[in-house]
Amino acid sequence: MKIEKRFNLISLIILAVFIITTVFFNIIAHHLPEKIDAILFCVTGSIIAMTVALIIIRRYISRRIVQPIKDIHRGSSITITEGDFNNMMDVKTGDELEDISDNFNKMASVLQTRIDMLKTASEKEQHVIRSLAMLTEMMGFITSELKFETILQTFLEMTRSLLKAEYSGIFIFEGEQRELKLFKTALSGENDTSLGCARAMIQTPLGEVIRTLTPLIINELVDELPLNHIAIKNLLAIPLTSTDNRMSALLIMANKDGGFTQDDEDTIFNFAFQAFQALIIHEEIARLAVTDGLTGLNNHRALQERLSDEMDRAGRYFKKLALIMLDIDHFKSFNDIYGHQTGDRVLKDIAKIINNSIRNVDFPARYGGEEFIVILPETGHEDAAAIAERIRLKMFEHPFTAETGEDVKLTISAGIACYPSDATEKKDLIKKADQALYFAKNHGRNRVCTYLETVIGTIKEIPVELDNILKDPSLKGIEVVAKEIDARSNYTKGHSLEVAAYAVMLGKQIRLDQMQVESLRIASILHDIGNMGIPDHILNKPGSLTPEEKSIIQGHPGLAEMVLKKYPHIEDILPAILYHHERFDGKGYPLGLKEEEIPLLARILSVVEAYEAMISPRPYRRRMSKEEAIGELKKEAGSQFDPMVVNAFVNLLRQKKDDSSGQKMPPLTKDTL
Ligand code: GH3
Ligand code: MG
Ligand code: MG
Repeated sequence: MKIEKRFNLISLIILAVFIITTVFFNIIAHHLPEKIDAILFCVTGSIIAMTVALIIIRRYISRRIVQPIKDIHRGSSITITEGDFNNMMDVKTGDELEDISDNFNKMASVLQTRIDMLKTASEKEQHVIRSLAMLTEMMGFITSELKFETILQTFLEMTRSLLKAEYSGIFIFEGEQRELKLFKTALSGENDTSLGCARAMIQTPLGEVIRTLTPLIINELVDELPLNHIAIKNLLAIPLTSTDNRMSALLIMANKDGGFTQDDEDTIFNFAFQAFQALIIHEEIARLAVTDGLTGLNNHRALQERLSDEMDRAGRYFKKLALIMLDIDHFKSFNDIYGHQTGDRVLKDIAKIINNSIRNVDFPARYGGEEFIVILPETGHEDAAAIAERIRLKMFEHPFTAETGEDVKLTISAGIACYPSDATEKKDLIKKADQALYFAKNHGRNRVCTYLETVIGTIKEIPVELDNILKDPSLKGIEVVAKEIDARSNYTKGHSLEVAAYAVMLGKQIRLDQMQVESLRIASILHDIGNMGIPDHILNKPGSLTPEEKSIIQGHPGLAEMVLKKYPHIEDILPAILYHHERFDGKGYPLGLKEEEIPLLARILSVVEAYEAMISPRPYRRRMSKEEAIGELKKEAGSQFDPMVVNAFVNLLRQKKDDSSGQKMPPLTKDTL
């Protein structure tokens, strides 16, 4: 009922009550036995009745009108002042007050909906602003960083933080065939860049998504992941493609509290798509900056950078590294005859041959016009030579077709230098590979040479007269060879023959048979023949040696073996020479043999050579007396020297009472045996 009607009714009720009570008390007053003032009675009765009626009416008005108004007031205050639009009023008066409260409730709920919409829109706006800020940051990073993988890592970190996910990973595919090129992940605190892990993941049910680049949201545990992969509780996958279709990628985000939503997909896509385009363009520019335009190999600059990095790494982890330098033989004439264009095609073909002959970890580059370099990490001389040989053979067998249709053969020469044995500095390593290449060119081209070979090149071409002596099975005149060997060093005049004299005496002392004593004599005379292959400036360096120089010096037993191998009649003395720098405790070179593993003749040679050196003067120290030298030998017995040999030798020296001053022995020859 409307309020106006209620008030009309109340007025009527009051009027009716007044009339009824007046009439009622009037009648009663007339029927009373005692005469009373009827008017007063009537008025008093009416007033009482009216008062009761008014109390009832007041209570009614308070309950049905005032209280609802108060409710509306309180409800509206809460809604308006506290902004709580969910606070609904419950006024059931059936009149305008109920209408007012209903309208208010409707208004509050409409406002709440609008506010929710605004909130959502604002959240989206915030995401957009955040992703734009990240995009700006990313662009800034791209312009300041050159390394693609570092940029990619930052990109992944940003995607992870944008969606507050635990894990983000990207598969990058190249070309239309979608060959998996790179896989990188960012996990809170950890990185996993293993391509193997990515390949394993392609084998899982996720593989279909990865291969077909399908967008996907999974909000449950993903099974069958590769071993050691983190558990994926939920996942969002976004495909990305560069505008030129050269590269494509699948970005995977995982492990977000509460799972992923369509909004997450939109947010990440907006950021990732644009960042990916910038990334690919950057990669292309960076690639062009380090790529040789003609052959597609790495260019000179890239080579220099990579070589520095690889040498640093090899140094840090005590690894080897080899460098192959390749140069086409007589290429100038080839160009002159067949033209530069054909020459250019040949260069491209050679780049392919090189690429097909090396491992993924190797780094091929065009070093100059028709010179190539390959960096081979963790590779020594022999393996590098095998790879270079493979390239040389492929070149040799590959027919190049000239414009005229004619098949032309071209050959290549290669030089190899290794870190750290040949050089420890980048410039030096390249120089040594170049020297080896030069050596290969000078020795007939179409061949592979290591720097070590260039060093021993001189003794490979041993003077004819020495060669003739060594070829003669009777080794007549071997003393001449000894003289030549000793002449290589400023400090070792007569050393070889002196050593031989002591060795022979010691051999007899410990009762070696005649044949063994003779072998010992020859081995002693020739033990330093490897020095002939060591550059003068190293052999005669007065100061201390660099590690590189030391390693060259330590190569002399090996060099000796290489030279002497071609004389079969002295084959049996080779072990004595090769191992005369081994130590009894296993800390010597070249192999680190110990105790009886070292051939006896080498153990003898080691002792007598050391003694002879001790009692000889050197520019950097005075000569020791016989007793001092004996003391030194005894001190080293068991560590550097075989104690049994030292014992026998000391006894021998003591028997020679007349030689107390450390005077040298008259040299022994075969005839004096
Ligand atoms: P060698 O066997 O001693 O190496 O003889 P070579 O004639 O190859 O001598 P060299 O290595 O000095 O030759 C360099 C030649 O390589 C000169 C030039 O004709 C050719 N060359 C260098 N760069 C290019 C190139 O980009 N394209 C072509 N077609 N030829 C090049
Ligand atoms: Mg050249
Ligand atoms: Mg050349």
